[in-house]
Amino acid sequence: MTTFVSHFKRIFLKFTEFNFDSGLLEGIEAANYIKTTPIQEMVIPHILNGKDVMAFAQTGTGKTAAFLLPLINNVLTKKAGTGIKCMIIVPTRELAVQISQHLEGLSYFTPISSIAVYGGGDGNDFIQEKNALIKNAEFVVCTPGKMMAHIKMGYVNLEGLQYLVLDEADRMLDMGFYNDIMFIIGKLPQKRQTLLFSATMAPKIKTLAHKILRQPIEVSLSLSKPPEKIVQQAFMVYDEQKTPLIIHLLKEKQYRSVLIFCSSKLSVKNLTRDLKRKGIVAAEIHSDLEQAEREDILVGFKSGRIPVLVATDILSRGIDIDNIDLVINFDVPRDSEDYVHRIGRTARAAADGTAFTLVTLKEQRKFHFIEKLIGKDISKMSVPEHLGKQPAYSPAQKNDSAKPSSKRNFKPKGKRHQ
Ligand code: AMP
Repeated sequence: MTTFVSHFKRIFLKFTEFNFDSGLLEGIEAANYIKTTPIQEMVIPHILNGKDVMAFAQTGTGKTAAFLLPLINNVLTKKAGTGIKCMIIVPTRELAVQISQHLEGLSYFTPISSIAVYGGGDGNDFIQEKNALIKNAEFVVCTPGKMMAHIKMGYVNLEGLQYLVLDEADRMLDMGFYNDIMFIIGKLPQKRQTLLFSATMAPKIKTLAHKILRQPIEVSLSLSKPPEKIVQQAFMVYDEQKTPLIIHLLKEKQYRSVLIFCSSKLSVKNLTRDLKRKGIVAAEIHSDLEQAEREDILVGFKSGRIPVLVATDILSRGIDIDNIDLVINFDVPRDSEDYVHRIGRTARAAADGTAFTLVTLKEQRKFHFIEKLIGKDISKMSVPEHLGKQPAYSPAQKNDSAKPSSKRNFKPKGKRHQ
């Protein structure tokens, strides 16, 4: 069964209309959630009814609370045996930390216990996780590889597990976690409730769902449409114009919080270095950094200490950072859906936001696909005069080469910028 939801036609429910535990309602109040979001309205009743659910919803829709709230309530109210009750498997450590914090917040006024289990930690982390797992934390939020390592050690009691959530399932498959996930599922009781959340409806997700869900309710929020309130603009540029243009944009207006996405670690490192040289307070985040460093940088960015963060797509999905004024795509994302995820980092909740995308000649066709995906033309902006001429936008032409045009009059000062 597929249920399509429109954001505009529904009158959202108040959380008091669900028969939630009073401690959980206190947590919801403390989080300042007044009414359900569409995804919450659609899936919470099914989860409370014990159904398996396959939900297609992007980050930013309130999907995390959509599964956390009914699961916290179920674990609180339904007495069951010992061991872990609920396992939430996610693709990245950042998402594990974030969901775990979300869980702690919402269950603050309840006796629920939880542990986050994710890769990248040291021996102490492993022992701490092991102890929490042995003590049977009720909720485990984990990345697949690390959870599998603990299960293989033999001390994880999964006999009483009743609920399994796969969050960002499409991302996990993209990252090659299929075998790890199937290993873990093979160790879980067959009689359980399984929820699968995915941002995209790729056929491989449906195949996975078919294997692990039982007669699921399928819920789909319309995908691939960034919120209308995001001002989207694009600059057609030559390669060498990218970094000077970003420096210009950052200096032209005072932004409190800017997230810049690059498709490669190398671009992230080079751009951050160039921004710092120009006196811009910036930090970089990518998978070469240690977990502690990444967390430190995220805290700095969230608190405003670091106004400009340059990131790989590691941060494009799932990470909940509010109040970003500006997202810049240093390059056009490979996957059109990633564009929606990247710019969805701005204009969260009630705030407005801006998204700039820098498009070189060879990226114009990819950019055109994005415009088709989101169903609208993104405004094309002029680069400032001192950067010289910019290329025209003509995606229909075969723009395989980003070689400099002889007509260009922009001259980089002796070094490559990316
Ligand atoms: P998510 O899609 O789960 O990443 O959630 C995006 C943001 O929406 C998070 O900051 C949540 O705390 C927030 N949120 C979730 N549910 C609600 C709600 N019902 N009302 C207001 N904010 C919410």
